[in-house]
Amino acid sequence: MILPIVAHGHPVLKQVGEDFPQGDPAVARLIEDMFETMYASSGVGLAGQQVGVTGRIFVIDATPFAEDGADAEGFRKAFVNPHIVAYEGGKVPFEEGCLSFPGLREVVERPESVRIQYYDEQWNFHEEEYSGILARIIQHEYDHVEGVVFIDRISTLRRTLLGRKLKEISEGHVDADYRMVFARQKKSRKRG
Ligand SMILES: [Zn+2]
Repeated sequence: MILPIVAHGHPVLKQVGEDFPQGDPAVARLIEDMFETMYASSGVGLAGQQVGVTGRIFVIDATPFAEDGADAEGFRKAFVNPHIVAYEGGKVPFEEGCLSFPGLREVVERPESVRIQYYDEQWNFHEEEYSGILARIIQHEYDHVEGVVFIDRISTLRRTLLGRKLKEISEGHVDADYRMVFARQKKSRKRG
């Protein structure tokens, strides 16, 4: 089932996710819906908060970034109850976008590598290290489960300059070809 995506300005994007109960069978269906929603909106990653879920979960298919790293090709994974246990390496700048911020792209600096613990959809535990483009996507999605969005990681000045654009997004004045939920919208708006 394709779920509507929560737009910037909605309080759920600021909520820190809580771990799902170990072995929660509802997670498999949620993962399926999240992948379907992500593909329908041409995203490379989607976090629970972006579909109104405050459990710790995100899904990734990094294939569209194959030119930025060979390991991105076919990298399709669900991360349940993720916890980053280490950030390593120097800060690297990279232009990011986010399904909750249609039309916005900003350069964000992030550490080169991460070590992350998580469960997969079958509740198998993993601890893995990622660098390059995969570390980039994982950190962006991981931020969502921590209630942080990418514009929280740009300069205050830059964010101020984006004020009008951000207000427009929160009020539903966006050009997105997927269904969205807006916090400040008075009337429901249909989009093609
Ligand atoms: Zn995002």
